[in-house]
Amino acid sequence: MTIKNIFITGMAFSLIACSCGKTTTQNKTTAEPYQKVSPDFNADSAYTYVDKQVAFGPRVPNTPEHIACGDYLVSEMKRFGAEVQEQKMVVTAYDGTKLNARNIIASYGLDKKNRVLLFAHWDTRPYSDHDPDPANHRKPLLGANDGASGVGVLMEVGRILQSKAPEVGVDIIFFDAEDYGVPTFADKNFNDDSWCLGSQYWSKNPHVPNYKAKFGILLDMVGAEGATFYKEGTSMHYAANIVEKVWNTAGQLNYGKFFIGKEGGGVTDDHIPVNKNLRIPSIDIIHLDASADYGFFHSWHTQKDDMRNISKETLKVVGQTVLEVVYKEK
Ligand SMILES: [Zn+2]
Repeated sequence: MTIKNIFITGMAFSLIACSCGKTTTQNKTTAEPYQKVSPDFNADSAYTYVDKQVAFGPRVPNTPEHIACGDYLVSEMKRFGAEVQEQKMVVTAYDGTKLNARNIIASYGLDKKNRVLLFAHWDTRPYSDHDPDPANHRKPLLGANDGASGVGVLMEVGRILQSKAPEVGVDIIFFDAEDYGVPTFADKNFNDDSWCLGSQYWSKNPHVPNYKAKFGILLDMVGAEGATFYKEGTSMHYAANIVEKVWNTAGQLNYGKFFIGKEGGGVTDDHIPVNKNLRIPSIDIIHLDASADYGFFHSWHTQKDDMRNISKETLKVVGQTVLEVVYKEK
């Protein structure tokens, strides 16, 4: 994904930051403690699934590592009891390169009409164009957080869906070719459509005709220690009620330290084509950080996006929240 208007967010954040530290006395009601309805999300498994992807090396389209990791994801989701479809496609990158890509669609409860869509991108960026060292700008990155974390969380969600079916059907999609967007060093003016090629393709060619879901949740960069998830701007534009549903659920699970009740800036990410072309109200749970240079997590699009960034606590917070939303849904 890339920046849309995140710098505006940075200014808003600095104002927000001043208002903490004071408490006001309010009449507290003695509410019953919230009873979780979803099975426990296992952060150790999710961590392993992230690590396994990273162990393939960078997963850039047109490379053997990319093919091998895609095959791994397909076989794991089958092992977790999903009906798996591979949507193979050739998409064109910003510079005209033809990318052999595939979206991986893992479905649960195909007989159910009410469905929830969960998605993440599984490819990694061919460039580390925000690395502090310019010598690294043309190197691919490992994408432990930017890519593998969201997929790892959703793999664990799939493993759990197999053991106990929720009332709704669930489609988990791993989108390809999200992160091949125009690099900062490109000398021509390419357009913003160079991002999210896999989700753009699927949103125009869904894996089943007239595909419908009640709503969609995208996970992107959901693994870093102390991650901060602000209410992302495009999600608020298209699906404010889904943002509220997810943030309220996180609050019920006492994850308010991660799911912050403030709006963040908008980003270009896979939820945009899903909202625009298929009109499935979809949100992005994404690590926004106004104190970082570019507004995302500190190692975004650098050589440092490796397993050292991955925190089991953060994977747990995100995974349990998503599970709880799914298991509450009817
Ligand atoms: Zn990225």
